[in-house]
Amino acid sequence: MELACLDLEGVLIPEIWIEFANKTGIEALKATTRDISDYDELMTMRLNELDKAGLGIKDIQEVIATLSPLDGAKEFLDWLRERFQVIILSDTFYEFAGPLMAQLGYPTLFCHKLSIDENDRVVGYNLRQANPKRQSICAFKSLYYRTIAAGDSYNDTTMLSEADAGILFHAPQNVIEEFPQFPAVQTFDDLKKEFLKASNRSLTL
Ligand SMILES: [Mg+2]
Repeated sequence: MELACLDLEGVLIPEIWIEFANKTGIEALKATTRDISDYDELMTMRLNELDKAGLGIKDIQEVIATLSPLDGAKEFLDWLRERFQVIILSDTFYEFAGPLMAQLGYPTLFCHKLSIDENDRVVGYNLRQANPKRQSICAFKSLYYRTIAAGDSYNDTTMLSEADAGILFHAPQNVIEEFPQFPAVQTFDDLKKEFLKASNRSLTL
């Protein structure tokens, strides 16, 4: 049997922190791992900014609920789920992704978790494990699943390499050039075709 493993942000939904920063006008939240390479430093800054703005988890979720999946993402995901067991492997947090997952019909999601105190303040974060996307693929392989994975960025490339087939979707040019071993596509129609090509079954569009 085959599993389809998808990254979430940049593939099915917009980048949550960027969109959240745009909606709230909190400039500091636009920083990414490209600006602050130490992830713990970046997350600590983000949580401090949320606290400074007096935003608890419910306020944050209200803002996130105004965001939408990318155009065509729901239709693509429904198409994929008719043909594969689909698991989303993401570096986001359950509490942030929740409102968008509702719009996607609650597909299976493996990601990280926040610590919330009794006053709804976000007080910390808990990473599920180190290198979680690649480790998930390793685990699925140990269950004798064949895996086809798609993602858009550097944090997906170990997952794409470990999978039986890897596909770059919506990837920036520098990632495409650095990882020429993966087919790179930009539209959901082309992504469907890549999944069909990568499958060892005779599936149709
Ligand atoms: Mg991504």
